[in-house]
Amino acid sequence: MGKESNEHDQDVDLKINDSENDRLNISRVPIILWIILIYFDGIVFQNVSKTLPLQTILFSLVMMLHVLLYWHVRKILQYGSWTYFIIQAGIIFSSALLLPDSFPIVLVGLIPILIGQSIGIYYQIKKVVMIFFGFYLIFCLALVWRHDAENSVLFIALLILIVIVVAAYSVLFYRQVNARIRTQNFLNELELAHQKVEELTLANERQRMARDLHDTLAQGLAGLIMQMEAVDAHLTKGSSQRAHEIVQQSMSQARKALADSRRAIDNLRSKSASEVDFADAVREEAQRFTMATGIRTAVDIKIKSSVSRLLIEHGLHIISECLTNVAKHSHAKNVWINILDNQGMISMGVRDDGKGFNPDNIAKQAGHYGLIGIHERTRLLGGTIHINSTVQEGTSIKVEAPLLKET
Ligand code: ADP
Ligand code: CA
Repeated sequence: MGKESNEHDQDVDLKINDSENDRLNISRVPIILWIILIYFDGIVFQNVSKTLPLQTILFSLVMMLHVLLYWHVRKILQYGSWTYFIIQAGIIFSSALLLPDSFPIVLVGLIPILIGQSIGIYYQIKKVVMIFFGFYLIFCLALVWRHDAENSVLFIALLILIVIVVAAYSVLFYRQVNARIRTQNFLNELELAHQKVEELTLANERQRMARDLHDTLAQGLAGLIMQMEAVDAHLTKGSSQRAHEIVQQSMSQARKALADSRRAIDNLRSKSASEVDFADAVREEAQRFTMATGIRTAVDIKIKSSVSRLLIEHGLHIISECLTNVAKHSHAKNVWINILDNQGMISMGVRDDGKGFNPDNIAKQAGHYGLIGIHERTRLLGGTIHINSTVQEGTSIKVEAPLLKET
């Protein structure tokens, strides 16, 4: 774990406070339940062999303190993690003194939990091993105090076994938690980067606007002012012929500046999604289709609402794939394209009077991706598709989708 734990340290150090809190909080409840179980075991075991009422009460208090420290581990860690472990070690040792018959159960149950917790706190093999030896020493001291050499080896073996299992589990568990924390950090960074890109895009756009305004309006006006000054000078001198010539020049320059600035404004507008006219684009597509195939195309478009860029993009692809299929497969003479919007929905239909096909058979054919693509695009738009085809009569494909897709 040595080298790897250092890497973890570095990664997690980025947000050490949050991640440490996360790691410690996630495991709190099951551990407390475990301690309560051990506590009852301890009491039952002791009182079965020899009843010790006063010690049992004291033991209960000590265990309550133990649980309380667990629950508030975050706050106590502010005073240093060693303080926390020293207090817990004291508690464990005094519980051994209080219940001589059941302390091996209590210690074997509680020490591995503390070792596991130390992995969550330090994530460093050196410190965890030190903590382990500290508790191991206390465990051995308690065994010596109890004068039970016979069972000591068994208890030590049991303790080490459980510590190994709990430590392995803790490493896996905290690794998972760390991975989650890192993912969260990455996502936050990504979000920041995204915001930065947006800011830069906006800044870029502003620069472009500034440049366009400068090159068209500002320069045009500056030129005009200079020419008017010249006209003024000539008129003062009385040479009206020359002044007249310059005014003529100025007029043509003003017209040019006006045309340039109109173009700049058009450029800016063409960037916005709503300015791409869906109806025009479909009509152009239909025209190209008729020119290329000789199939008559009737286009009927009635759109009252504005159409989103997503709809325009997918809608144009859908219609163009339908037209390609008419040309490739249908032997049709006529095609009808109908697009209309109604109550927040847009409906796009392409119908032909060709030979038709059986849509049920098509779904099973490999190597044909046009209709699959139409289905996929319809799904992305949150819409539905209806394919009606009758052999020798023709095919009609209709896609209906919401104008504003709910995300
Ligand atoms: P591809 O065009 O590559 O064959 P498609 O998924 O676009 O794949 O179409 C699948 C099949 O559906 C076509 O091979 C054709 O048999 C049939 N088809 C699609 N549109 C029409 C149509 N308008 N008229 C007749 N058959 C069609
Ligand atoms: Ca196709």
